This record gives sequence, structure tokens and C-alpha cells, in this order.
Amino acid sequence: MSDTASQSRIEELLAGLNAPQREAVTHGEGPLLILAGAGTGKTRVLTHRIAFLEGTGMARANEILAITFTNKAAQEMRERVELLLGRRTRAMWVMTFHAACARMLRAEAHRLGYTRQFTIYDQADARRLVKRCLDNLGVDTKRYTPGAVHHQISDAKNKLRDAEDYRRMTGDSTAFTTHVADAFAIYQTELLRMNAMDFDDLLVNAVNVLQLFQEVRDRFSTAFRHVLVDEYQDTNAVQYRWLQLLSSEHRNLAVVGDDAQSIYGFRGADIANILSFEETFPDAHVVKLEQNYRSTQTILSAANAVIAHNREQKHKSLWTNLGEGEPIRIRELDDEHAEGRYVVGEIERLVDEGASRAEIAVFYRTNAQSRIIEDTLMRRDIAYQVIGGTKFYERAEIKDAIAYLTVLGNPQDVVSFQRIVNSPRRGIGQTSLGRVTAYADTQGISIWEAAANADQVPGLGTAAVRALSRFMDTMEGLRERVEQRVPVGDLLESLLHDTGYVDALKAERTIEAQGREENLAELVEVAREFDATAEEEMDTLDVFLQGVALVADADTRTDDEGLVTLMTIHNAKGLEYPIVFIAGMEEGVFPHSRALDEGGLEEERRLAYVGVTRAMRSLYMTSARRRNVFGAMQYGLRSRFLDEIPRELTDRADEPRIRPGMAAQRPGSWAASQPSPRSAAPVPAYRMGDDVSHAAFGAGVVTGVEAGGIVVVRFAGDGSERKLMAEYAPITKL
Ligand code: ATP
Ligand code: MG
Repeated sequence: MSDTASQSRIEELLAGLNAPQREAVTHGEGPLLILAGAGTGKTRVLTHRIAFLEGTGMARANEILAITFTNKAAQEMRERVELLLGRRTRAMWVMTFHAACARMLRAEAHRLGYTRQFTIYDQADARRLVKRCLDNLGVDTKRYTPGAVHHQISDAKNKLRDAEDYRRMTGDSTAFTTHVADAFAIYQTELLRMNAMDFDDLLVNAVNVLQLFQEVRDRFSTAFRHVLVDEYQDTNAVQYRWLQLLSSEHRNLAVVGDDAQSIYGFRGADIANILSFEETFPDAHVVKLEQNYRSTQTILSAANAVIAHNREQKHKSLWTNLGEGEPIRIRELDDEHAEGRYVVGEIERLVDEGASRAEIAVFYRTNAQSRIIEDTLMRRDIAYQVIGGTKFYERAEIKDAIAYLTVLGNPQDVVSFQRIVNSPRRGIGQTSLGRVTAYADTQGISIWEAAANADQVPGLGTAAVRALSRFMDTMEGLRERVEQRVPVGDLLESLLHDTGYVDALKAERTIEAQGREENLAELVEVAREFDATAEEEMDTLDVFLQGVALVADADTRTDDEGLVTLMTIHNAKGLEYPIVFIAGMEEGVFPHSRALDEGGLEEERRLAYVGVTRAMRSLYMTSARRRNVFGAMQYGLRSRFLDEIPRELTDRADEPRIRPGMAAQRPGSWAASQPSPRSAAPVPAYRMGDDVSHAAFGAGVVTGVEAGGIVVVRFAGDGSERKLMAEYAPITKL
């Protein structure tokens, strides 16, 4: 492109921005913080800054790392940049934290004992493995559910704590924490043995590899000249550390966020990361954006009034020139069915008046609330989509097909192997499988090798040996095709055929089985689309599986013309719709009863703020006086958030009721809203000469202690001396 052409392109780029936005986009080198309320163009600033950096030659495309939280947001960001830059966007890393870490680990995980074919376990796989660990420990999984235990493990990992740290910090304070600590240790060993990582490991291991290997850190932190992060208010400790490491060389870290929209505290997101950015980077350039381009003044004023009830927030004043707009419609209905009928009735009326269904979204606090609204929409024949409901990749047959591919890519993967060995039925029962697994364990070989030598497995009946041998013959044949690097679509098609999977479905002759076949055909289609875009030299199967593992647990929103969109408010972050309904505005539902107990009220209020600020033109908020929650009838009070919206902004069809005993019914809820002092992690003090043990490097001795919590350790194993962050490194004092 000629200089004048690129010049005019940049002028065009800047023309669509207001003064502070332009200031942020054109900021040169050094840390940059854009702290602004909802709808002020933060995401727009990021995409324009990316284009600006590239367009002015301040950074080459492959020197830019841009991070967001959801796949949908990453996809949108990539599309927006592509509009501005075209094909050059291809070389950029515009992706989620998890995708970026997975990509980094494909190249570096071998340093941590994984192969590049490592499997990514989604939440369900992870929970299954936790259950196995608990079973092995003889723990009653009805009392100590795998879900609850996994949550604790995940929470610890997100704070960069390993099993030992967890045990040290909780002590053996309760039976529960003891079980968690035990299961955590086995779980990690098992994951490594199976060459698998869960979602949290992607981040933790990416941090480890950067932290432990100077040359890796040097390479990546030099390569990424500019690091940009959207929704920075939702980063947790491990993500924060990862960003710090990556931007350590150039210090060109540009983050945008809104402290009022931090809604992932329950996953360890630390609002302090954004509030203290200026302390971490005293030379940070700070830009504030105050003009909202999304919503009417009424919607903004309502959002501002609600969030004003939180103590912990930076004050921001938002304004818009989109005018007053309509009042917020607040309706109190008899029960959830009446609520569903009201919402759907309004949707029909709006569509009759000319609104497009795609302009309408219905939000709720928890996934379970969607069913009644879905039923009503279905009865009225209104096309809709649910974001984050039962998804394509969660269907059994899709998970089977993926498990087959996974085993072909990673023969160590016991969980996937167990899933497919008898699906379709081949006469390989639980007992036989147990013997094969035990044999693999005692011999220290992979499950694949054990099954391929079924005749060597003690105690296995002849029928089972024959069945396994036949099965493994098929699998060996497929594995050869993997080695020949056939396209993933072809591989998938042959495996569905060769393993008898499709034939078994055909033999069922049911509607369901037919549906399953169609889903599998759809998956083959997904693989073919992938093959069409795959680059020559890449490990296609692994890259394909990595992509699947990451979308499987995330959002797959499509902008199909004419679909009403349903989703939880968490999923709606960063999105906008002309017409928004928020259903279930009741105490106990929203704010959620769990949040009241745990002092999470401020986070619930931020969530309300996120919900309200998605609306551009019209906002409806509904509540039910009675609601069936998991089989029990509940009589809910109207949500306090509704009462926090000034009456003059609303059109309320129901007079507020006097609510006797209100205070008595909310024991402690106000006390719970007091900000609690954050507990600092107790890090043992290290002194020269202390003996320590490191998870990867083994025994060592402290040879120095430096400012900023750094300890220098000389390791006995290879004699190396390494600098470690005392707080984060997997070291223990002996
Ligand atoms: P959120 O806090 O919800 O993530 P945000 O601050 O990221 O919001 P954007 O999504 O970037 O805001 O922008 C909100 C809307 O305002 C978008 O439709 C965007 O195109 C529009 N917008 C932002 N800045 C301008 C501008 N200078 N001129 C015109 N439209 C703008
Ligand atoms: Mg945004």
C-alpha cells in the first residue's frame, strides 16, 4: 500500500472516534489503562488500536497479542479487526486466554512432561476424573460431590496454588478440605499420566513454563511487542501473572475494563487487578471514557442508580446523547408461567410492530430459568436460540466421536479410551476394562498398548480378548491413517464407519438414532470446514481437537436473522441488544440466594448493572410472586435491585407492597455487603540456606532472597540456579 493510501486509511480509522477514544488509540509505548463504564466504546478502542498499531508500523501483525474472555467476543474482535486490516489479521493472536495458552503449550508443554498431543479436558471430563480419584480414595461422593471438590481444586489453581499449597493453607481443618487436598494431588498426577490438562491447567502451565524457563519467557515477551486485554476487570491471579510475564520486556500492556462489570469473583477474578493497575504501573497512561453510545439516558440512569449502592467502585459519570427514551417497564406476575406468558406476549407485540426477533434478548440469572420461557416461545412458534444451553458438543454421540479422535491422537488418554471401548457395544464389559486398565498401570504402559496386547492381560476371558483384538486392529488401521496425515474430515468419516458406530445407530431404527446420525454428519462437516482452512505444516488432528475442546464449553452464538436470543447475564457480557428482558427479578433468584450467604451481594449488583447496560432502546424487568425452584414452591420478594431504580425512570404496573418483616427475612444480608478485608496468602518466609522442594526440579537450597518475593534456589538435580516467585512457584520449605 502506498504511504498516502495508508495515511488516509488511518485518518478514516480515527474519524470514527471521540477525543479520549482517539487519545487511547494513538497512545505510543508504555502501559495504558482505559477505565470506563459500559457502552463507552472500550472494545471499539481496542480494535481500532490494533489496526492503528499495525497500520502505522508500530507493530507487525505477529507482534500483537489481543485477549478477550469468551470465544464469541474473540470472534467478534477478530472480525472487527479484519474489517479494518483484511488478511493481515491472520498472523495476529486475537483470542481467549485459554486459546492463547493452549497454543503456547503445544510448543512448550514438553518441558513440563507433556507431549504436544496433550488432551484438553472440559468441565465434565474433569469432574469425571475427580470422581475417579475420590472413588479410589474411598470417599463418599454423595456427601462430597465431585462438582464441589472440583470447584475447590479449580479455585486453588486460579490462585496459582497446587495441592501442597492447598493442604498447607486449609490445614486438615475439615474432612472436606482433607478430601479435596488428597484428591487434588492424585488428580494432578493422573492428568499428567494421561497427558491431559483441564481448562485451569492451560493457564497454570502456561505461567509455569514462562516462569521456569527463561528462554521461553524471553522469546514470547520479546515477540509480543503489544499486549491488549478486553474485560480486564475479570482477570484472576493466574491470568494476571501470565500477562505480567508476557509484557515484561516491552511493557506495552493496554488494558480496558470497567470495575462495575466485574462478575467473575466466584471464579477467582480479582477486581483489585484493575483498581491497582496504576500502582503496578505508576507510569501508566490513564484514559477515561464517559460518553455512552449504546443506551438511552433512562437506561443509563437506572444502571447508575443501581451500581451507586455498591461501596467498592471507582466513580464514573456516564452520559449519552441518545435522548431520554422509554421508561423501564417493571412487571410483577403471579408465577413463572405468567411471567413467561407476559414476556412472550410482549415479544409477539413488538415483532408485530416491526421489531426483528434478532433485536430481542431475554436474560436470566440461572440456566434453569430458561425452560419455561423456551416452552412458551415454542408454543407460540417463535424462533429462538439459547446461548450456553445444551450444546452440540455436549451430545453423547459427538463426545464419542471426539473421544475416538482423541485416543487416536493421544493413546495415553484413559478417560477417552474408556468412553469408546464399548461404544458401540462390543462385549467389552467393565470388569474386562478394569483388568486392562490395571494391567496398564502395573506395567507402566499406555492403555492403548495394554489393549493391543490383550492376550497378555491376566484374568481376561477369551471372548474379551477376541473383542479387544478386533477393536484394536481397527484402531491400529485408523492410527496409520493419522500418521499418513489424512484430512480430519476423512479420518472421522472412516472411523465412524470402521468402528461400526454408524451401523449401530442405523440398526436402532429410532428417531433419536437418526438425529444422532445427522449430528455426526454435521461434525464431519465441521471437520471438513476445518480441513479447508488448515495450514500445510500443522498437526491437524491436534489443532482440530484443541479447537473443539475450547468451543465445547463456551458460547456458540450465531447471529441468525430472526432468532430471539436467550442467555444468562454472565454470557451477555460485552454484547448489546435493542430490546432486553430480564426475568426472575426476585430476592433469592437475583440476587442469588447463594450470593446473599457468601457476601457476594456487590458482585450480584454488578451483574445487574451488566444486564441493564446491554439494552439499547427498551428494557423490561419482570418478577414472579411464586416460583417453583427445583420442585419447591418459593414465595419471593421482589428483587432489591428493582427498588434501587428511581420510580421516575420506570413504568410499574404494580404498586409496591408493604413488605412486613422484610428485615427479618434477610438475616445478615446487609452485613454481608460490607467489603471484607482481603486475606493475604501466607507465604513462608525464606532464608538463605533453607532446604526446599520443587514440584518439577526436586530438592534444592535457597541461595538468595530478593525484593518482590523472589527466592533464588540452587537445585541438586542439575545444579541449576533459578529465580522463583515464592508466592506462586510450586515449592515447599522442608
Ligand atoms: P461494554 O462495557 O459493554 O463492553 P464497551 O465499552 O466495550 O461496552 P463498545 O461495545 O465498544 O463499548 O461500544 C458500544 C457501542 O457504541 C457499539 O455499538 C459501538 O459501535 C458504539 N460506539 C462506540 N464509540 C463510538 C463512536 N465514537 N461513534 C459511534 N459509535 C460508537
Ligand atoms: Mg466491550
